[in-house]
Amino acid sequence: MEQYYRQLGISSDVYHFCQRIWDSLAERFAKIDAVSEANQLKVLKSLQENQVSEACMLGTTGYGYNDLGRDTLEKVYAGIFHTEDALVRPQITCGTHALALALLSNLRPGDELLSPVGKPYDTLEEVIGIRPSKGSLAEYGITYAQVDLLPDGGFDWEGIEKAINERTRLVTIQRSKGYATRPTLSVERIGELIDFIKKIKPDVLCMVDNCYGEFVETIEPTDVGADMAVGSLIKNPGGGIAPIGGYIAGKKECVENAAFRLTSPGLGKEVGASLGILSGFYEGLFLAPNVTASALKGAVFAANVYGRLGFEVIPDGTKERYDIIQAVCFGKPEALIAFCEGIQAASPVDSHVCPEPWAMPGYDSDVIMAAGAFVSGSSIELSADGPLKYPYAAYFQGGITWQHAKFGIMRSLQALVDKGLVLSELQNL
Ligand SMILES: *Cc1c(COP(=O)(O)O)cnc(C)c1O
Repeated sequence: MEQYYRQLGISSDVYHFCQRIWDSLAERFAKIDAVSEANQLKVLKSLQENQVSEACMLGTTGYGYNDLGRDTLEKVYAGIFHTEDALVRPQITCGTHALALALLSNLRPGDELLSPVGKPYDTLEEVIGIRPSKGSLAEYGITYAQVDLLPDGGFDWEGIEKAINERTRLVTIQRSKGYATRPTLSVERIGELIDFIKKIKPDVLCMVDNCYGEFVETIEPTDVGADMAVGSLIKNPGGGIAPIGGYIAGKKECVENAAFRLTSPGLGKEVGASLGILSGFYEGLFLAPNVTASALKGAVFAANVYGRLGFEVIPDGTKERYDIIQAVCFGKPEALIAFCEGIQAASPVDSHVCPEPWAMPGYDSDVIMAAGAFVSGSSIELSADGPLKYPYAAYFQGGITWQHAKFGIMRSLQALVDKGLVLSELQNL
């Protein structure tokens, strides 16, 4: 085995160090496999119960009336999320679009949106109008209230109770930490939060931003009272195969509102040709539990490798996981850059290019990104990025096979070793 790794540039020291870490993770990995096994059966059950057939893999064109594959896929998603309905479309361009759609279609002028878990994901700031933008909720007279998590990551129950008022119509709960350092919420904790909110105001809608969380646990937010779960198909549920798309699974009325907004009032779910790309949605969903498990193993492995080397890792290597994102704080720019160079060099696509920090729109510092993906921008595939500012944290995620995620981490460590950026002697650790 060592020889295969050596052919791809991994030194003996790095190989043996990483093997020792891997040897210590058998129990963790067995737990991840058990979750993936349960989720595989859950997905299979829904595919079978909804009688997915060969005809579902074909597509429609034009208006897309009576698109069997599209309509069946939405039933399959509803079966997995245990919801009344779902909207799963290639016309939903990304996760932000799916979230914007759910919000813009279920809120009306005069309503208030509440986030009880602090600042939402960056791109939602413009959707909400925290940063002014054309077409934001703010432009439609929908206000926004926010209650931050407590310093220990807990819910501010008192603050939340105070923030709920007669105009509060929808509560948005982000499951994953995203690119922040707050803790990721378990589905159980999301359930407690929803219970609390619904006791105060039963008719408020609870939406969960489910990005990066799907199939990490055996239950989803819709199993604990969420009215909608929303996410991207180029993350977990697309299994690395879906080339585009987003989903909203939830209450019939919520999904209907979203469909009328996505297409047109009066048309709703009836139109939207699938153009022959649905087989990738089905196959990706079928693979998603296993792919998510691979990404999770990569995250746990990375936390243990870099934790052992003395870097701050969030979450730390022993913690239970509720999403697939791993942060590693490098403390200095050269190390962050070397890490990303290593991830890039490990990619199946564009491994020969070298990522460089650049001034990306929307960020207040240069950002470096590493991705060599089959689907552009897909972050269920092995990828990493980080803003060039203190604490010089790399956010690492994905890996559609565990073997590749493992190699990516080993290759990143090799890049750090080659540049003399890892302090200790690996053989002594
Ligand atoms: C990725 C992500 C989004 C936005 O998804 P895009 O597909 O990048 O638009 C929203 N929320 C969270 C928590 C995410 O991780």
